Amino acid sequence: MIAEVIVDIATSETDRIYDYLCDENVVVGSRVRAPFGGKTVPGFVMRIKETSDLPFEKLKKVTPCPDELPALNAECLSLAEKLAARYRVPKALTLRLFLPSEMRTGKVRELTKNYAVLSVDLSEMKLAKSAKNQLGAAEYLAKNGKTECAKLNNLFPGGVSALERKGYVQITKEQILRDPYKDVESENVERALTDDQRRAVDTINMDNRTVQLVHGVTGSGKTEIYLTLIAERLKRGESSIFLVPEISLTPQMLAQLRARFGKNAAILHSGLSAGERFDEWWRLRTGEAKIAIGARSAIFAPLENLGVIIIDEEHDSSYYSETAPRYSTFDVALLRAKRNKCKLVLGSATPAVDTYKRAQEGEFSLIRLEKRINKRPLPEMIIADMRREVRRGNNSAFSGALKEEIEKCLASDKQAILFLNRRGYSQTVICKECGYVAKCQQCDVSLTYHREENCLKCHYCGTKYAMLSACPDCGGVKLSYAGTGTQRVVADLQKLYPSARILRMDNDTTSGKEGHYKILKAFGEHKADILVGTQMIAKGHDFPEVTLVGILDADMSLHFSDYRSGERTFQLLTQVAGRSGRAEEKGKVVLQTFDPENEVLRFATAYDYQGFYENEISLRAAMQFPPFSKIVRVLVTGEDDKKTVEALRTAYVELEKLYVENSEKFLFFNKMRAPIKRIENKHRYQVLMRLADTSILPQIYDICANAKTRDVLVSVEENPTNLS
Ligand code: ADP
Ligand code: ZN
Repeated sequence: MIAEVIVDIATSETDRIYDYLCDENVVVGSRVRAPFGGKTVPGFVMRIKETSDLPFEKLKKVTPCPDELPALNAECLSLAEKLAARYRVPKALTLRLFLPSEMRTGKVRELTKNYAVLSVDLSEMKLAKSAKNQLGAAEYLAKNGKTECAKLNNLFPGGVSALERKGYVQITKEQILRDPYKDVESENVERALTDDQRRAVDTINMDNRTVQLVHGVTGSGKTEIYLTLIAERLKRGESSIFLVPEISLTPQMLAQLRARFGKNAAILHSGLSAGERFDEWWRLRTGEAKIAIGARSAIFAPLENLGVIIIDEEHDSSYYSETAPRYSTFDVALLRAKRNKCKLVLGSATPAVDTYKRAQEGEFSLIRLEKRINKRPLPEMIIADMRREVRRGNNSAFSGALKEEIEKCLASDKQAILFLNRRGYSQTVICKECGYVAKCQQCDVSLTYHREENCLKCHYCGTKYAMLSACPDCGGVKLSYAGTGTQRVVADLQKLYPSARILRMDNDTTSGKEGHYKILKAFGEHKADILVGTQMIAKGHDFPEVTLVGILDADMSLHFSDYRSGERTFQLLTQVAGRSGRAEEKGKVVLQTFDPENEVLRFATAYDYQGFYENEISLRAAMQFPPFSKIVRVLVTGEDDKKTVEALRTAYVELEKLYVENSEKFLFFNKMRAPIKRIENKHRYQVLMRLADTSILPQIYDICANAKTRDVLVSVEENPTNLS
């Protein structure tokens, strides 16, 4: 038999597929070891065939790996092929998505432990009195039976190996699966569903559309709906995928999942070691675990017979991959749902505008949960006008209203969260006296300050504007383009409230394996009174003692140069506000802004998603931004400027031809330098397009695949989240 084997998938950027001889028992999708250029490398069997075009003498033979099951099942192989075609990338790249890193490189570390048992009766051993460690180990084994060698070596160093050499002891290796959650404390709380939850579960089960959008306010009990769906599937022997943003895999969430599903769940997250991840993956592959829980990449879990796929916080931008292949998790999930004939459930308190539009138009089913569990009220929102604070001479990060609420909160021994809106925070000029923000006259998006050229630029059309020295609206000269950092806020707070216990959570404090789990756990146990953080603290956490949320700079993300900045701000504010008053006590939110009249903030403070959506969708329609168009950026990057420009030219010539021949399908087409000209020593150029009709997208991918060289990357980004 001949096997087509793909080799070197861990490092190669191109497909290297070769013919090898193989035995009858080698099957498609299985791992093999293949002789390659004088070495033996790991490979995967893509196809089995009878004959090869190569002469028989030239063919080498692969050795199969002794796996219980082929690493890749039929669905994975077919999906990898579809994705490779869709994003015009080598199969090596899409196959990687389906395999844990240790399996791709062939360096699988199975965790084994050595155990010792006596093979000779204690009385028959001839041991010198002085051989204390041997005697000790032998007696221990006689008394306790089979024991881990590591343990014996601790008690009696060297004893057990000496006994083995004499033939008194037999040592066996046993594989053990690492259990990353053995230390997670768990409480199993299965709750009776509320009527709203029951109705949601029933609708999802009955409605015959594939995609089901659950739009439920924060605290409406969406998690319980997901867990019920998963439990129902499990009972029927079907498997499930449950996706959450990485940050939502909090200790509470882990404990809840563990308690509910035990070993049936494999929880994949970035805190796991490579070995732990490998074991969890393998448990899913063998079907020992039937529920895959994790961030974006868990959509590639090797499960069969899927009964449901759930994407929680579906609006979250982490569901788009920022490296090739730049897949959308929703698209992959939809392919899997269709193949498995199962439901794809999306959940959010603030659905993406695009998703909601599709639900409103009937393509997706729409399930609404308008009340919090136990009819707890949503927290009251107080708007603090920071312009007035500045005029009054208060230049600190805290308004009078916020200080008053913090004091009340501390006095009643409750907890507060202070949030700094750093998501997509960019260098935008804002007038601290009137709230004016510089915007592009054509695109109506905020301008970004570029230090090296000392100018303001629009990232959507490339127009440059001169830097401002005074506000064009009010003439004020207090212009700011830097916010306060979390560290400053903590220091200032500590001065104001010397006895308050304050925790900080941002990128600096959460490095290391369990950084943010530790911080959240400590806060959850009320070991601190105030938690200060960035968008990391916005999502998913359920702290019953929190009665106050302060949003220090609510409008900052509005000024990000992105057509979605309104959407992102609404989502963020709703999420953060949702952290307050989740238990008996009513919650409060103080929202500080330089722009209190802003429509997005008004809709957010009124919890009016529908109002926000209608306003936003009409703006998008008027400006022909997505979902009424698709923004496509072709980004050309390389270390050598000349080669980079050459590749750009190759791509541009073809793209321009496409544009000229199909100009009715384009709303915008322009070649320019990327807003940031160099990142990590790479020169960057771009061709920016806005398409009214996406039917030419495959041609754009083709052009870019052809323009790519060994030294220059030419990538296609669809509706990129970051245009810098
Ligand atoms: P969401 O994900 O919609 O923001 P959660 O799933 O976090 O909401 O639920 C909010 C709170 O309500 C949680 O503390 C949860 O434990 C509780 N809860 C959910 N469902 C029920 C139920 N059926 N009965 C009692 N409490 C519930
Ligand atoms: Zn513009």
